[in-house]
Amino acid sequence: MLKGKVAIVTGSTSGIGLGVAERLAASGADIMLNGFGDAAEIEETRKELAESYSVKVGYSGADMSRPPEVRLMVEDTTRELGKVDILVNNAGIQFTAPVHEFPDEKWDAILAINLSAVFHGIKAAIPQMYERNWGRIVNIASAHGLVASAEKAAYVAAKHGILGLTKVVALESAKTGVTSNAICPGWVLTPLVEAQIRDRATEKGTSFDDEARDLLAEKQPSQKFVTPQQLGDLAVFLCSPGADEVRGQAFAMDGGWTAQ
Ligand code: NAD
Repeated sequence: MLKGKVAIVTGSTSGIGLGVAERLAASGADIMLNGFGDAAEIEETRKELAESYSVKVGYSGADMSRPPEVRLMVEDTTRELGKVDILVNNAGIQFTAPVHEFPDEKWDAILAINLSAVFHGIKAAIPQMYERNWGRIVNIASAHGLVASAEKAAYVAAKHGILGLTKVVALESAKTGVTSNAICPGWVLTPLVEAQIRDRATEKGTSFDDEARDLLAEKQPSQKFVTPQQLGDLAVFLCSPGADEVRGQAFAMDGGWTAQ
C-alpha cells in the first residue's frame, strides 16, 4: 500500500519508533531511521528492515534537540531517498519531578525534543508534501497529551502542545492531500517506561514486575501494555487512503486510560 512512499520516523532506533518504522516498511515504504544508540546495532536494524521488506532504509543520527539537525535530516532524506511523504514525529524523552524541583535544563530539553522538534520537522518537510499534494504527518503524543499525571510538568506540557500543533497543521493543510494527526499511546513497555518502572522499584524496594503491575493498575484498565506494533498498525492506517479525511485528530490507544 505504501510502495513508492518515503517515511522519516524520528527516534526509531528503539521502542515505539522502531515498531512504527517496521510496520511502515512492511507496507512497502522506504524508511529513514533516526535516533541514538550503538552504531553496529543501528546498522543491523537498518539492514534487517531493508532485507525483510525489500525497501530502502537509511539512517540519520540527527539530534532532535537541535533545529539545524532536524532540517538536515529532512534534506538528507530527500537527497538519499528522493523525497519525504510521511513524517512520524516520535522521538521523545521523559523526566519526573515535582514542578518546584523540576530542573530548568530538563524542562528545556523535553520541550526541545518532544515539542519544538515536531515544529521544525513539519516546517522543513511540509513544503514538498504540498508540491506533490500528498503527505502524512503523524505525531506520537501520549495519553499525557489528553490528561495529566503528577511530576510530569514538561512532558505533559509538550504532549498537550503537540495536539495543538497537530490541529493547526491539519487546518492549514485541510484543502490539500496532506493530513496531520496524532496518536496518544498509553503505557508501552519500552526503554523509556522501563526506566520509570526501575526507578519506582528502587524507591519503594519492590520488584520490577510488581511496579509494572502497579503502573498498569493505576492508569490502564486493560492491565496490558500497548505494543509498538499495534501503534505502528494505527500509523499505517493514518497513511492509508481510508484516512484521507481524518484531519487534526488525536487517536488514543491506551487500554482505556483516557476513557475513565
Ligand atoms: P524509547 O526511549 O524507547 O525511544 C526513544 C527514541 O527517541 C530512541 O530511538 C532514542 O534514541 C530517540 N531519541 C531520544 N532523544 C533523541 C534526540 N535528541 N534526537 C533524536 N532521537 C532521540 O521511548 P518510547 O517509549 O519508544 O517513546 C517514543 C515516543 O512515544 C516518545 O515521544 C514518548 O513520549 C511516546 N510515548 C511513549 C509511551 C510509553 O509508554 N512508552 C507512552 C506514550 C507516549
